[in-house]
Amino acid sequence: MADPKGFLTVGRELPQRRPVDVRIKSWTEVYENFGTDRLEKQASRCMDCGIPFCHQGCPLGNLIPEWNDLVYRKDWQEAIERLHATNNFPEFTGRLCPAPCESACVLGINQDPVAIKRVEVEIIDRAWAEGWVHPRPPAVKTGKRVAVVGSGPAGLAAAQQLTRAGHDVKVYERADRVGGLLRYGIPEFKMEKRHLDRRIAQMRAEGTDFKTSVNVGVDITADELRAGHDAVVLAGGATVWRDLPIPGRELRGVHQAMEYLPLANKVQEGDTDTPAITAAGKHVVVIGGGDTGADCIGTALRQGAASVTQLEIMPRPPQARPDTQPWPTYPMLFKMESAHEELADAGGDRLYAVNTVEFLGDDDGNVRALKIVEVGGPETGFKPVEGTERELPAQLVTLAMGFLGPQKDGLLDQLGVELDQRGNVVRDREYHTTVPGVFAAGDMGRGQSLIVWAIAEGRAAAHGVDSYLAGHSALPYPIPPTARPIA
Ligand SMILES: Cc1cc2nc3c(=O)[nH]c(=O)nc-3n(C[C@H](O)[C@H](O)[C@H](O)COP(=O)(O)OP(=O)(O)OC[C@H]3O[C@@H](n4cnc5c(N)ncnc54)[C@H](O)[C@@H]3O)c2cc1C
Ligand code: SF4
Repeated sequence: MADPKGFLTVGRELPQRRPVDVRIKSWTEVYENFGTDRLEKQASRCMDCGIPFCHQGCPLGNLIPEWNDLVYRKDWQEAIERLHATNNFPEFTGRLCPAPCESACVLGINQDPVAIKRVEVEIIDRAWAEGWVHPRPPAVKTGKRVAVVGSGPAGLAAAQQLTRAGHDVKVYERADRVGGLLRYGIPEFKMEKRHLDRRIAQMRAEGTDFKTSVNVGVDITADELRAGHDAVVLAGGATVWRDLPIPGRELRGVHQAMEYLPLANKVQEGDTDTPAITAAGKHVVVIGGGDTGADCIGTALRQGAASVTQLEIMPRPPQARPDTQPWPTYPMLFKMESAHEELADAGGDRLYAVNTVEFLGDDDGNVRALKIVEVGGPETGFKPVEGTERELPAQLVTLAMGFLGPQKDGLLDQLGVELDQRGNVVRDREYHTTVPGVFAAGDMGRGQSLIVWAIAEGRAAAHGVDSYLAGHSALPYPIPPTARPIA
């Protein structure tokens, strides 16, 4: 145990975000440096619980009390070994995870939980800075060939595990760069892409082969893919977005979030100076109150939007845990992400319990406003409140309303894998689909989810593939596909 009295004497502390007026002018990450001494104090708050509920909360089964103790004892090199034992990419989760481990932390019952996510990111950032992270190519090759379709966190985790197990792994990605939503969904200010590039360089050095701009199911058929490989991992994500088919949807200026965000990321990659869709000088409305919506807000404000408003059909969530969502569940609370702070500073609104009934256009076919109405809660079927209809000016609208599941036409249809009632790919305990030698991991199998789940599933699917190819596997098996967060 780090410090038996740490949780009594030290309060939870996180790094400051840079001042809004400064960070809004740049695309770099928003947090200031924290400092080693303060971080070691934060690690000392861990009680090394007999039953560490943080393990239960983390889909990867991260050995949290162990690395808290190691950080407190200044053994950072051993800490990264423990962290890498369960997580291929802690620099992604340490920056982007909503941290179900912290919601499950025992200290959270009557105090602020341990700052687990901050300890995680500081361990891996320090490890890179000190030169402790090296390629780990396999000692022995198996001669077996594995195709991974999709290079998001699930595909990358599966590929790294399988390459290290000695297989020849080829990752096929239809985009022009590797990374999935880490590359073209998540904005630079949440995670700078240098973190992704550094990992991909490590993976290439280990022997993983990447083929970009290859749409499997179009450029190569499923039969060709299977014929050329001993096993296939499907990690194509849940890319079919939910639309809003109301009058005026066809107007220019109404876009899906995933049409808008990748263009901003391409500017950061240096592909172009001006994105084809920009918020500059426009009144922007973001429909959808989740993470994707927050990413649209931060992006629009950095592009120089005249105003930004976020709409959410659900009622405003509570500030603190309601009785219906007790510890250690992951509660649905009112969040103040960095983008929300920026929105508040810019005088923008977050409107709850409102629905959009129509997009209104000008004579040239451009959107000029939304017709919105206040609605009752889900128990009323979101019944409109009479007399509350009004117009909200907008020249750019982004739809951030979630995703319906994986794309069926093309690869999945050609393979003939069974889908469940929600349209996701069915897997058994070894992540094997109903087609022999074809496995599935990440959002393609779970539906829209989180990076931490994608990494956990990629690792577990790699175990399944390795067992299938070799008859047994020494790779870890973090989680069965049916596992759900504590809720
Ligand atoms: C805007 C946005 C922000 C998000 N922010 C967060 C966050 O902060 N924290 C968090 O935990 N989660 C976040 N998420 C969710 C998270 O990004 C996903 O759950 C995660 O990326 C899923 O990983 P994946 O590997 O399954 O799929 P993806 O990351 O979607 O990757 C799938 C890849 O497969 C490729 N592909 C698909 N079909 C084919 C094919 N036929 N041939 C070749 N390639 C193919 C796609 O081009 C894509 O690159 C966010 C999601 C979005 C949309
Ligand atoms: S639940 Fe919290 S206090 Fe207990 S071991 Fe995990 S991080 Fe430490």
